[in-house]
Parts: sequence; structure tokens; C-alpha cells
Amino acid sequence: MEYQKNQNVIVTIEDMGMNGEGIGRIDGYTLFVKDAIVGDTVEAGLTKVKKTYAYARLIRILTPSPDRIEAPCAVHKQCGGCQIQALSYEAQLKFKQNKVRNDLIRIGGIGRDVLDEIMEPIVGMGKAHTLRYRNKAQYPVGSDKDGKTVAGFYAARTHAIIATEDCLLGPEENRRIVDTVLTHMEHHGILPYDEKSASGTVRHIMIRKGFQTGEIMVCIVINGEKLASSEKLVDNLKAVEGVKSIYLNVQKKQTNVILGSENILLWGEETIRDTIRICDAKNDFSPTQECLHYALSPLSFYQVNPVQTERMYSQALQYADLSGSETVWDLYCGIGTISLFMAKGAKRVIGVEVVEQAIADAKENAKRNGIENVRFIAGEAETVLPAYYEGKEDTAFCHPDVIVVDPPRKGCDEKCLQTMAQMEPDRIVYVSCDPATLARDIKYLCERGYALKRVRAFDNFPQTVHVETVVQLINQNANAKHHVKIRL
Ligand code: SAH
Repeated sequence: MEYQKNQNVIVTIEDMGMNGEGIGRIDGYTLFVKDAIVGDTVEAGLTKVKKTYAYARLIRILTPSPDRIEAPCAVHKQCGGCQIQALSYEAQLKFKQNKVRNDLIRIGGIGRDVLDEIMEPIVGMGKAHTLRYRNKAQYPVGSDKDGKTVAGFYAARTHAIIATEDCLLGPEENRRIVDTVLTHMEHHGILPYDEKSASGTVRHIMIRKGFQTGEIMVCIVINGEKLASSEKLVDNLKAVEGVKSIYLNVQKKQTNVILGSENILLWGEETIRDTIRICDAKNDFSPTQECLHYALSPLSFYQVNPVQTERMYSQALQYADLSGSETVWDLYCGIGTISLFMAKGAKRVIGVEVVEQAIADAKENAKRNGIENVRFIAGEAETVLPAYYEGKEDTAFCHPDVIVVDPPRKGCDEKCLQTMAQMEPDRIVYVSCDPATLARDIKYLCERGYALKRVRAFDNFPQTVHVETVVQLINQNANAKHHVKIRL
């Protein structure tokens, strides 16, 4: 049958795609239906028709999926932030576990039987904690169609602002902070920034909270160096419990990059503090007595879900399987969070990160925790690692027993992977925020002497399609060498 745009069809959703869209089939023809979930039977209106597939919008649900729940947020469909709020939490976890598993099979070439044996169950958040988990929010500020100043979130794939002062993923204080800034703007005639004309002042409100310490940083991103009557705004903001630091961030460029490089401290501390506890990854991730302290400035990268972060890092530490004698490289180390975890159990750790400021923060963080067996190098992983391997630098220092990587979504550069394999560390621990690129990189390493031994997914982003994964790869050649030695 030929399908046409605007035609309505009835379809049962059998699967969910990368972006949380429902996938259904009619006679082999595939439909991608936004806002429909696995198990729903829906009426869908075709919006874009291709030869073998079509995109469609949900018109009505005829039979709801047993996994369908009432989404907690009123704007979940318009806002681009959450994609799967209407899915029960158990089903969200199942979706993410399957996503990692399927990518490892399809892209990584890992056998199903292997995964049945080595893949551990996904670590979720506990049903009562699947909202209010994010420690960082960035609200764009703009005008609605009536010219009223609003803050909220971008609608999926656009820059239209959906007004929502209370995003359910962030802490409750955010609402009061956003409201205080908007009221100040109204009283003093301060205009929001307009992307089209590059005029107006306030672009974003960034709020960051240390969940362990309760300390809050507010950062108002403006298109200039001054905000009218900012001392009055400071007075109102510091009345919000927890607020310890208030900044202006200057971003004058016409760009999607939220923060500019200049920060002006209006009031309070330069940084807020947070603590990450080392958890017992062998049992139920209960926190141990050991923890690490971090200072956060407006520009530092920091994981957004503190509860899951400590579990995930503790898992990475367990997969590194350190005895105290190892040299560990931590590539893509950010502000040294994972490096400092590893330093507790290793002889020495070398962290590599491309952002210079993050390296400066990493060094400060090491000092703050009294950790001396770490060294941080600013540069690209794919440049720094080969330079050491090829003996251009300090070779005695460099041989890794364990390499940890935690790259951005695009995964590791091939040159980096190639050098990792050539350096033959006994173990590689890969922390990933994108299962597809993780699977691609695992395939590369498995073709060069490594075997996938452990996989565990972590749900750091409930209500969204994102998932983190930690895996352990073991050098098969090293094992072979080891066996020979034992036999001799
Ligand atoms: N491990 C850290 C940071 C992970 S995010 C943590 O958990 O906090 C990924 C980091 O990789 C970012 O800090 C980013 O700046 C850095 N990065 C991106 N490309 C890089 C490259 N080619 N070489 C080294 N670091 C890179």
C-alpha cells in the first residue's frame, strides 16, 4: 500500500528508537511515532513519508501500553529535555539495558552468549528518586509571543523557549532563583537577549548545586559586562537558602555555546564545594567512609547526577582492579574526578584532558585531597598518548598497567585507540555516555587483543534516553604471557 503525508494509520508500537520514539510496523513498512511507547496501539498521523519508512505524530492512544504512566511534567512533550517520561521507571531501565546490549551486539560484534554471561544488571536510581536529580540547570531566557520575559527550556530541535520555571529534574530552589531573576528584570526594565537581533541582555541562568554540601552557585549569562542594579539582585538571591556564590558570565558571541570565558564574581565564594563518596561496587553501592572533595567554578565540567556518579566511578574503580602497584592513565579526565578515585588504589595516575582550565582545577582538586601520586597533562588524548608511547617524553614513567577513558559522545579518536592497544595495558576501563560509539571502540580494541569481560549500564539520566556504561576489557596477550611465565 502507498502511504501519503497527513494520512492517519493505526499501529502497534513494538520497539523504541534512539530518541525514545515509538517504532511500529505495518506490512514491513516502518513508522517512527513521537510520544508513543512500546506496547501502545495508537492512531498516528504521517508527517514525513519515505519509501520504506515514515515519521508520524501521535493523534490518540487506542490501547495504552501496560508500561505507560502519567508523565509528571506538564510540558514533557514540547520540551526537548525529557523523552520518556510516560514510560514507567522499570520500563525505562529495561529500554536502556537493551539499548546498550543491542549496540554491543550490532555495532560491537559481541556475541549474545558472551553478553548473557558478562553483562550485569543496569544500576538505576530507585523509584522514588527519578526526579530532582540534576545538580546543574541552564535556563534560557527570552520573550514569549506576547513579549513577556520567560525562562524555560528549548523545545526539541529548536530555540523556541517553553516557559517552565520549575524543571522537575532540578532541585526545588531553582524555581525561586529563576523567579527572582525574572522579577528583577521586570522591575529594572532589563530585556532578555534576542538571538535574531543579538540585542538585549540576559541570555541564560545557570544554577549549580553541590548535593552533598547544599551549596548553590548562580550564574547569570549576559550579553555585556554589567547588569542594572545588580546589588539589589544579589540581595534577593542570597536570601535563597544554600546560595553561596553569584556570578555574571559574559557571553557576547552569537553562538549556541551557553557560557562565555569571562566570569565576574558579584558576591560570595569563587567556587562551591561538593563531595563524591567511594561506594562499595561489589555489594549494593553503599557509601564507604572514603570520599573526595571537589571545588566547582562556573566553567568546570562536572557530572550532573551526583548519586549515580559515585556509583559509576566506584564501578570503574572496581573494574580497574588495582592492587597498589599500577600506573594508571585516565584519558579525558576533566577536573580529575576519576583520576583521584584511581589514585587511592594505584601507584600513580596520569590524567589527560584537552581543556586547560579543567587541568588547573584537577591539580587544585588533587591538592585539596592531599593526593600526591597524580600528574595532569593538558592536551588531546590522541596527541599526548602517542607522544609518550613513541618515547618523545619521559618513557620510564609512562607504561600503563591500566588505561581508563571517559570520552565525550563521539568516543575515542582512532589514533588514541591504536596507541592504547600498542601500549598493551593489562586492563582498559571504558566509561561511556554513548553506547553506539562505545560499541564501535570496543570492536576496534577486541580486534587488537582485548576481550570484553564486564559491562554495566548506569541510569544517570532518568526520564531521558541517555545512558552511561562502564566496561572492562582485558588484554588477552598479557594473559597469554602470564600463563607462559607460570608454566615455566
Ligand atoms: N572524566 C571526567 C570528564 C568526562 S567528560 C568526569 O567524569 O568528570 C569528557 C572530557 O573529555 C571533557 O572534559 C572534555 O573536555 C574532554 N575532551 C574532549 N575531547 C578530548 C580530547 N581529544 N582529548 C582529551 N580530552 C578531551
